Amino acid sequence: MLNIVLFGPPGAGKGTQSKKLRSDYGLVHISTGELFRKHIIEGTSIGIQVQEYIAEGMLVPDEITLLMIEEQILAYYKDCKGFLFDGFPRTVAQAQALDRKLEEYNSSLSLVLSLDVPREELHRRIKKRGLEENRIDDQDESSVLTRFDLYNSETLPVKTYYENQGKFIKISGIDHIDLVLEKIKEIVDRFIIENSPR
Ligand code: ADP
Repeated sequence: MLNIVLFGPPGAGKGTQSKKLRSDYGLVHISTGELFRKHIIEGTSIGIQVQEYIAEGMLVPDEITLLMIEEQILAYYKDCKGFLFDGFPRTVAQAQALDRKLEEYNSSLSLVLSLDVPREELHRRIKKRGLEENRIDDQDESSVLTRFDLYNSETLPVKTYYENQGKFIKISGIDHIDLVLEKIKEIVDRFIIENSPR
């Protein structure tokens, strides 16, 4: 399986790139943020549990997030070429749990691709998205600041975790969407060639 994590701060373009990548490589796209928003709209028990965390820009507790991820992997692993994780893992505990879960399926993470975008540009994109997609967590200044603080304190250690595994690759995410996509695909294609059986 080809399992990829798209990593980066809020507004880096993970969702945008995921939507393009998933069809090119036949991957199942798992966006925790998107799944949570769907649960909220549908009024499920997960939705009710997470809505306050999301509105305030807090991290949803790991137990809830991990349960949802496990369900997704179980539902799709048989029929897919791999997974594209977007917005997950966001804590080292989530990263460790993902490694253990994939091992259960005799699989592992292939690559962690990190989109690098300057802070001012991230703020500009989030503001624009808040208006376009009507996301209340993007429209609320204090929620946005909380998300950046939590990214620095909780999510950046995940970078070190994957650097130690030699899987972390940084990509500039400031260029045009298609150019960023091209760079990502170059790296993924190289990985596929280098890891295909001879
Ligand atoms: P962004 O990357 O712009 O913050 P997301 O759609 O990825 O947007 O996430 C929206 C919200 O969903 C987060 O602020 C957080 O509350 C929750 N969330 C998403 N993924 C996770 C996760 N892996 N762990 C905990 N909470 C999460």
